[in-house]
Amino acid sequence: MSEKGNGVAASVRTESKARLKALRGALAKEKADALLVTDLKNARYLTGFTGSNAFVIVTESKAFLLTDSRYATQASLEVKGYGIKIITKAIDAIAGLVASLKIKTLAFEAANVTCSTHSKLGEALPKVKLKPTTGIVGRLRVKKDSGEIERLRASARLLDTGYRDAMRLIRPGVVERDAALSIEMALRRRGADGLAFDTIIASGPRGALPHGKASHKLIKKGEFVVVDMGVLMDGYNSDETRTFVVGKATVRHKEIYGIVKGAQAKALEAVKPGIKAGAVDAAARDHIKKAGYGKYFGHGTGHGVGLDIHEGPSIAPGNEEILEEGMVLTVEPGIYMPGWGGVRIEDMALVTKGGYELLTNTGKDLIAL
Ligand code: ZN
Ligand code: ZN
Repeated sequence: MSEKGNGVAASVRTESKARLKALRGALAKEKADALLVTDLKNARYLTGFTGSNAFVIVTESKAFLLTDSRYATQASLEVKGYGIKIITKAIDAIAGLVASLKIKTLAFEAANVTCSTHSKLGEALPKVKLKPTTGIVGRLRVKKDSGEIERLRASARLLDTGYRDAMRLIRPGVVERDAALSIEMALRRRGADGLAFDTIIASGPRGALPHGKASHKLIKKGEFVVVDMGVLMDGYNSDETRTFVVGKATVRHKEIYGIVKGAQAKALEAVKPGIKAGAVDAAARDHIKKAGYGKYFGHGTGHGVGLDIHEGPSIAPGNEEILEEGMVLTVEPGIYMPGWGGVRIEDMALVTKGGYELLTNTGKDLIAL
């Protein structure tokens, strides 16, 4: 159910007010008169608008959402505190509004504006200085407010149920894709709005591909099966990975699984406000290195999750970004042995005052299916 009661509408209004205030603070530091938001997730974060065509312009005292006529009704229902402009030609409409607001320096989202849009904007606004910026809204998004935490929690809780299905469905002789489809269908029935990404079910040697999405391969006895899934609920993503063994676990299965499990525990132990994101990565990486498998762990230890499946903070080597209460991130070390298979264990953690709280809660002992 996604019907919005008055309580939700009221909380969206409060959220959008607080976010606008924070954005204006960030904008002042950029020495720009206004920010043009073209990233749809950023636009949604600021305004609450869920349509697929949106531009947001925020100045020190004014704020507008621009969209097309398909979304006129939806925008009026979802968006409060922004002037809503229904537009046909985006560049002309943006230029007209920027001129009428007497904006001299317009900040834009460099990661999201194409070269072509940039030059068109420049032509339409010859007297306006266009200032590239990165992460103005993204930096606000890393710390989640209570409404977002609630949605992430619900998304993660639903995702946990998919692992109960995975444990029931994954058997020798089952095709990876068939198992994935059955799990996905059940998740949709239980309330997922969609998938956060293509489901990964990677058995045997395919498990050595960190992003091996479910294929036509048959799952066989004696293989590790990496299951990495995520759902989307009310705009918020979840992300979790478990690795199972099919048939009886060998000494080697147990050894490698144990190292990854230990690395994940070490990294989670490190999660708390005030610590560098890179230190969480190092905790997992050092553990795997000491066990002699360092060269088989190539990717970063985790990432932030929210409106985007991958967002800040990046839990990667050397990242100096400091963790703060309210951030939600994944911790997902792995070992990938080419030609043989892989193990990854991933949870979503909310950074709390005293450390962390797991949002995904599927058990982590090695399970033989
Ligand atoms: Zn994942
Ligand atoms: Zn992930």
